Amino acid sequence: MNEMTNLYSQMGVSQAVYQYGEKAIEKLGMRFAEIDQIAEYNQAKVLFAMQKNRVSAACFAATTGYGYDDVGRDNLERVYADVFHTEAALVRPQITCGTHALTIALSANLLPGDELLSPVGLPYDTLQEVIGIRQSPCSLKEYGVSYRQVNLLDDGTFDYDGIKNAINNKTKLVTIQRSKGYATRPTFSVEQIGALIAFVKNIKPDIICMVDNCYGEFVETVEPSDVGADMVVGSLIKNPGGGLAPIGGYICGTKECVNRCAYRLSAPGLGQEVGANLGLMPALYQGFFLAPTVVAGAEKGAIFAANLYEPLGFRCVPNATESRHDIIQAVELKSEEAMIAFCKGIQTAAPVDSFATPMPWDMPGYNDKVIMAAGAFVQGSSIELSADGPIRPPYAVYFQGGLTWQHAKLGILMSLQKLVEAGLVDL
Ligand SMILES: *Cc1c(COP(=O)(O)O)cnc(C)c1O
Repeated sequence: MNEMTNLYSQMGVSQAVYQYGEKAIEKLGMRFAEIDQIAEYNQAKVLFAMQKNRVSAACFAATTGYGYDDVGRDNLERVYADVFHTEAALVRPQITCGTHALTIALSANLLPGDELLSPVGLPYDTLQEVIGIRQSPCSLKEYGVSYRQVNLLDDGTFDYDGIKNAINNKTKLVTIQRSKGYATRPTFSVEQIGALIAFVKNIKPDIICMVDNCYGEFVETVEPSDVGADMVVGSLIKNPGGGLAPIGGYICGTKECVNRCAYRLSAPGLGQEVGANLGLMPALYQGFFLAPTVVAGAEKGAIFAANLYEPLGFRCVPNATESRHDIIQAVELKSEEAMIAFCKGIQTAAPVDSFATPMPWDMPGYNDKVIMAAGAFVQGSSIELSADGPIRPPYAVYFQGGLTWQHAKLGILMSLQKLVEAGLVDL
């Protein structure tokens, strides 16, 4: 296709890089077909929930002030609850990010003297200050909530003996992070999470099991709430916002847990009754509607990246052939220089701020310098094509998103182009 290669070369992607990419894509037909099937199922699931809850134009009206009797907001929460098969949901633009949603879920359901257990190793960077693993004012630790952690075994599986030993009469809540985050361990399948929850509940049935669902939504046909999680928590500027939500977070779960979360978010006694929608409902509904196909495109991009970089000698997590449970692709680039080149490529391919050059910086909540490439319509949105990673060995860049598969593909080709131009890769 001459037209295609012409345009790509005008945009800076060489013939050699383009051809190398086409060769990688040739082998991916079957996998892409499977992803499309999952997207079809999840599209129907979301659609059915919207129909069942009689979504109408009235749901899109803006409210201000207290936001009492906000029909659109309340109905969106019923739609989320139906999609995640939970009793209740809290879906709010007042939840500023994923870390905030997780903080609400934890602090609402843990009281002084309670213990929090992570049976899957160290939690995501920002959660470490929330919990108090790294000292911070207002951490759970400061409020008298203790923390225990059981690391994964060397092969990335759960240390069931260790978990059994760690559970004690103080253990109140177990936090399970589905996605690897900035680690190079495997992401867990929903099935694996279900087995872990069953194991924990078998030892102590009243333990609350919370799943950090960030980046996992709609990658499979089931969610952790289908396999016993009492709460699933995530960000609307990742998967479930479909790229359209400009802000927000969600917590879906049991009535009791979600009620407490609402009391924590607003105030005891007020709960879900307050919280104006400020005119964001069209974006939150439409984004949720688009989310299954957006996630599918992003996942194709992740698989393409692994199939492009692995043969070039860079370790990829997940690898080129294994099954996927989130939209994140880690590529171990072995040097800071290569991380910068990779991110430059992603940035150059962006629709917004394509002229900017990403540089490592001290980002709040993170311990090492972080580099981020993001030219997004929504600032910091990582369901849009983005790459980031802490500057520390093994110099892994975490690549994710892409509102369309076509854009994800171009971004990845551009990242390879920059590595080639920097003399770090020979095709
Ligand atoms: C992104 C992420 C978070 C935090 O979300 P923010 O919106 O960045 O605050 C928490 N856990 C995991 C696994 C994530 O990927």
